[in-house]
Amino acid sequence: MLLDNKVAVVTGASRGIGRAVALALAQAGAKVVINYAGNAAAAREVEEKITALGGEALVVQADVAQLESVEDLVKQAIEKFGRIDILVNNAGITRDNLLMRMKEEDWDAVINTNLKGIFNCTKTIARVMMKQRSGKIINMSSVVGVTGNAGQANYAAAKAGVIGFTKSMAKELASRGITVNAVAPGFIATDMTAVLSDQIKEELAGRVPLGRLGSAEEVASAVLFLVSDAATYITGQTLHVDGGMVM
Ligand code: NAD
Repeated sequence: MLLDNKVAVVTGASRGIGRAVALALAQAGAKVVINYAGNAAAAREVEEKITALGGEALVVQADVAQLESVEDLVKQAIEKFGRIDILVNNAGITRDNLLMRMKEEDWDAVINTNLKGIFNCTKTIARVMMKQRSGKIINMSSVVGVTGNAGQANYAAAKAGVIGFTKSMAKELASRGITVNAVAPGFIATDMTAVLSDQIKEELAGRVPLGRLGSAEEVASAVLFLVSDAATYITGQTLHVDGGMVM
């Protein structure tokens, strides 16, 4: 299979896009470390699905914003599987508000999870990949990081930061055989967007040339491509999975 003998770490993999990515990678033959922040039962359900497919998985609780927590995750992953070939930095949160109403703690929470979390995981796991002289890193950005969005200054700043971080890492890690790319989803139907009203969802779909929200599985397909041998000469790129919304 496409990812036979590969070991993948997917952050925030208990639901939404991370869950779909974990399942897609497992279906392609990878052993998957399912990281979750709070919902152990949901993470176990992903593990059960992977086991049912004949695959192998490890569930690890860790807060990506905390370096020690990430170091513990990596220790457990190495103890279980001996190597890490793929890192999907997917974990993310929103704390939306207009600037004048945005609390400092909402700014910090989003930057710490969505940007520092990627720094923590990449720094810790790239160390493993550098020794292996190979690896694929995917960072979850967003179209909002490219276009900006009123009410999402924290989220947009973090997601734009992810693109700059991705390009820098692509340059820094290329000589070690590691590729680093970003995926920028548009409006994807997950729990993150479930909070939006039907009216807002309809308005959003109206701004998408393909005329609908995307699915988590459609984002997972793009990740699968970028971590596969079909994408060995691609690094430092941001692949938009947005139905043509931003072009
Ligand atoms: P989601 O809320 O369904 O899932 C996010 C996951 O991240 C959850 O499982 C959550 O527990 C986990 N997480 C949050 N904080 C964490 C932490 N500190 N440590 C570990 N895990 C943590 O959201 P989703 O829609 O699946 O989004 C996944 C990624 O895709 C996020 O980075 C998000 O910003 C990005 N994205 C989503 C959309 C969309 O429309 N849904 C669009 C663009 C980008």
